[in-house]
Amino acid sequence: MKLTFLGAAREVAGSRFLLEACGKNIMVDYGMEQGVDLFANTPLPIMESQIDCVLVTHAHIDHTGYLPLLYKNGFRGPVYATETTSDLCKIMLQDSAHIQESDAEWKTRKNQRKGLPPVEPLYTQADALATHALFRSLAYKESREIFPGVTIRMVDVGHLMGSASIEVTANEDGQETVIVFSGDIGNLRQPLLRDPQYMQRADYVVMESTYGDRSHGAEQPDYVGSLTKTLQETFDRGGNVVIPSFAVGRTQEMLYFIREIKQKGLVKGHDGFPVYVDSPMGIEATNVLNENTLECADEETMALIKAGVNPIQFDGLRIARTADESKLINDDPTPKVIISASGMCDAGRIRHHLKHNLWRPESTVLFVGYQSVGTLGRSLVDGAKKVKLFGETIQVAAHIE
Ligand SMILES: [Zn+2]
Repeated sequence: MKLTFLGAAREVAGSRFLLEACGKNIMVDYGMEQGVDLFANTPLPIMESQIDCVLVTHAHIDHTGYLPLLYKNGFRGPVYATETTSDLCKIMLQDSAHIQESDAEWKTRKNQRKGLPPVEPLYTQADALATHALFRSLAYKESREIFPGVTIRMVDVGHLMGSASIEVTANEDGQETVIVFSGDIGNLRQPLLRDPQYMQRADYVVMESTYGDRSHGAEQPDYVGSLTKTLQETFDRGGNVVIPSFAVGRTQEMLYFIREIKQKGLVKGHDGFPVYVDSPMGIEATNVLNENTLECADEETMALIKAGVNPIQFDGLRIARTADESKLINDDPTPKVIISASGMCDAGRIRHHLKHNLWRPESTVLFVGYQSVGTLGRSLVDGAKKVKLFGETIQVAAHIE
């Protein structure tokens, strides 16, 4: 057995590990680097067509984003993942391909004006679709022999719907070796998702540690309590609560909390307040969760479902699919919640909502995720008094939480 680290070493994002066992080349994750690139990923030491299969821990782009590039360069083997991860990858890789295509189009137009050749996208939506056709689903805890002598098993790691740690058992020359790839590990007592499940044994563990230098603290924050307070205070001022959120994962968590707030009537005087999910991918990811709840849900969520309650559905929930629907949201003066992507405010529809709400002292922009250095989200969290959006300077008067 031989393991080569091709990414996410000495930095975060871009996870890829090449495991050679029983004469097969097994790739574990094939992620795209995101944010500031401190260390270039090591180039692939073999041809893409020599990779026999890929194991995917979870759907985040920093673990899957280059899969369509593998396909484009000749990889045709199976990609193993849980059913939910497979469904999420379908929408997330499409979305990533769409970004690659628009990016290339924009660069091509720029080049044309300079008399330079067109720019090819890294991969296309067709590559992403073809990649998705290679996915093979595995249930949690199911053991499957993927090659003679190589068995894999996926265990729920509670990081994202469908996320898994992957255990690979290889029998070589009469010797059994167990290696575990943790993938990103979830926190305890999160909404919707199960707590990370334990692995029983391993000879080697490759563990991701994105936030390894930060302590989460022993006490569980009161998410519902603090969200209730923010909604109450903002609505009483007549403002909107704008939540920049990752479309997959965090958006569904927010829906879960708001459903609880509404169900218990915690916000007073604003009955039936509207909540917009303004992110096409956020809407699709919510559908994926609705279809795969049995695979991912924790006990509390299952109890709700058994009682006939959809954990992420409530009165007043509205979706904006088209750009026109998105623009109409700010025409309505009713105090409301707007959940929109991207989570770090560096792209997407959230920027329109920031433009309409940042200058309003009655509104709140509520950050619910980590903001990387260099993003608009980070400058707002750090207390910027003015920001630039669509070439316009916008005064920051809204509450930033
Ligand atoms: Zn992740």
